[in-house]
Amino acid sequence: METNYQQSQVCTVCTKELNIQELSCPFCTYPVRGEKDEQDRFMSTYNSQRSLYQNYMTESLKATKSLYWLSGASVVGNMIMYAVTNESNFLIAAFLVPIVFIPLALWSRTNPFPALLTALILYILIILTDAIGNPAYVSKGAVFKVFIIIYLVKGVNAGYKSKKLWAELTQKRWTQEF
Ligand SMILES: [Zn+2]
Repeated sequence: METNYQQSQVCTVCTKELNIQELSCPFCTYPVRGEKDEQDRFMSTYNSQRSLYQNYMTESLKATKSLYWLSGASVVGNMIMYAVTNESNFLIAAFLVPIVFIPLALWSRTNPFPALLTALILYILIILTDAIGNPAYVSKGAVFKVFIIIYLVKGVNAGYKSKKLWAELTQKRWTQEF
């Protein structure tokens, strides 16, 4: 009985403050005064959704890391090409890629779906522009480019799923009427 009384002060799941008379948490719907198996059922659903959400976030973090690799490889690769050819295009590309993709990588840590989608579209545009401008170098680093695209596509997908799941985990419960 004492523990039940304590649980009524702060929700054990979302740690929001509760009123004594509330039967379930108005924020996360945890059945504060419910039966033990009702609470257990809630927790098992809640935990499985949380861990699924974590998996999607981990997956999208791989795409975030691929943007850092892309930026680093771009600086090194383009500087080498500039040293060899002395064409200023490579010098511009060397700095343009990190300027565009590092802010997107930082944004993707909190909001992976729009950030990684933007990065994917921009990267494909860069590859296409490059293919038209420098057809001689189109096959250069093709494997690397394909890997970056695969990581970004997977990241966009995981980012979309995590966004959807997060909306399900929060809004639906948080707006529930009592
Ligand atoms: Zn709660």
